[in-house]
Amino acid sequence: MKFGGTSVADADAIGRVASIVRRQIQLDPEEAPVVVVSALSGVTDRLIAVARAAEDGQGDAAASALAELLDRHVEIAARLTSGSAQAELLADVRREFDGLIGLVQALAVLREVSPRSLDAVVAVGELASSRMVAAALLERRIPAAWMDARRVMRTDAEHTVAVPDLIDTCDRALEHVAPLLAQGKVVVLGGFIGATANNITTTLGRGGSDYSAAIFGSCLDADEIQIWTDVDGMLTADPRVVAQPRVVPRLSFAEASELAYFGAKVLHPSTILPAVSKNIPVRILNSHRPDNPGTTITRETGALDGQLSAIACKRDVTVIDITSTRMLMAHGFLRRLFEVFERFKTAVDVVTTSEVSVSVTVDDTRRLEAIADNLRNFADVACEREMAIICAVGENLRMDATLFGRAVTALERIPLRLVSQAASRRNITFVLRDADVPHAMTRLHEQFFGRA
Ligand code: ADP
Ligand code: ASP
Ligand code: MG
Repeated sequence: MKFGGTSVADADAIGRVASIVRRQIQLDPEEAPVVVVSALSGVTDRLIAVARAAEDGQGDAAASALAELLDRHVEIAARLTSGSAQAELLADVRREFDGLIGLVQALAVLREVSPRSLDAVVAVGELASSRMVAAALLERRIPAAWMDARRVMRTDAEHTVAVPDLIDTCDRALEHVAPLLAQGKVVVLGGFIGATANNITTTLGRGGSDYSAAIFGSCLDADEIQIWTDVDGMLTADPRVVAQPRVVPRLSFAEASELAYFGAKVLHPSTILPAVSKNIPVRILNSHRPDNPGTTITRETGALDGQLSAIACKRDVTVIDITSTRMLMAHGFLRRLFEVFERFKTAVDVVTTSEVSVSVTVDDTRRLEAIADNLRNFADVACEREMAIICAVGENLRMDATLFGRAVTALERIPLRLVSQAASRRNITFVLRDADVPHAMTRLHEQFFGRA
């Protein structure tokens, strides 16, 4: 059971978490759940801002932001607990923050925040929230045990975007978590955080708690992986872009992966992978409305009525056009081209080719200059920023060729930069100007899911 930031935003929200966990135990008294939590809502953003302030040498601003964060945690912790358990929790939370205050002070003096230090700073969000949730469960007489997720989640040393070592992590989950579950204890861990083999704190990338939960669920052979959040499930479109999207009741693993990859923020893009390997259903549920059925993601597809399943959008991507009249058709050209992206560790999302040019999109532009310079050794290169990808997803695209036509028709008069239909034919991707996204998403949504 993974609870995102808004599901642990304050004492009331954490109270709801406790009721949801209790209900799960009543439903299945034989198997205690593992509870994975994010930092309280907004805390990761604040901690990143604190690190940035330290980097700018603004030690005082960083310290006062930390003091505010500590106050918020202490106030919530005090409301959730009482007596000696409260004293213990407050001491634990203060200890986490004391360490952080010292670290941030040192960073402000150095005016330097490495990715490794940044991980140490942001990890406090999940360490504190998970302690608070564990204490809240115990206060409500739910047998629970807190565990430092860094003891379990093993990763490489790619700080801020660390990659889990699944074998090592599973070994540790079986060693440290499984015995507590066997005693009937609900094990509470922070998502998103891990540690290297040398016990240096790492994080899995923004939104990574979903991924942590899926990994723990898969390691421990969970019956299902529940992602509790602030919406009723996977929606037919991003609710921040399209008015009143609908809940998608069922999705296949492949559909959910595509949607997550192309911008459906409700799931971290890697969440589905661990579930697929053991065929564990993933459910997306609303912690504010626990009775709603949510979205169930399994091996089988959902929409059977010949429809698309959902559409997603990935904003602010860059298109790179690589043109070579001489060499495109020469063998080895594509290898050379993609080697450049590989060398600079930059993932390419959409690719289209014509006789003389290859166009690709990237969303990570940190190494764009270097990539373009290297490509210019053998091709002309043009980059266009402020573009976006819209991805329409549905297993039915394989069966019904008219869906493609309907999508293109819905977008008529909106300039499309690239269009591609994946070989799996489970998705169609459109690349267009970012400014056209709201209009294009609304048109597509109306075409396939009707008016709001
Ligand atoms: P949590 O803190 O629970 O992890 P997130 O903010 O990471 O929550 O993800 C939930 C948010 O994802 C929703 O509030 C919604 O704004 C956004 N979102 C974007 N696309 C979708 C979609 N297709 N379906 C549901 N939510 C989406
Ligand atoms: N707290 C982390 C973030 O905000 C991880 C997560 O919420 O999944 O990115
Ligand atoms: Mg999230």
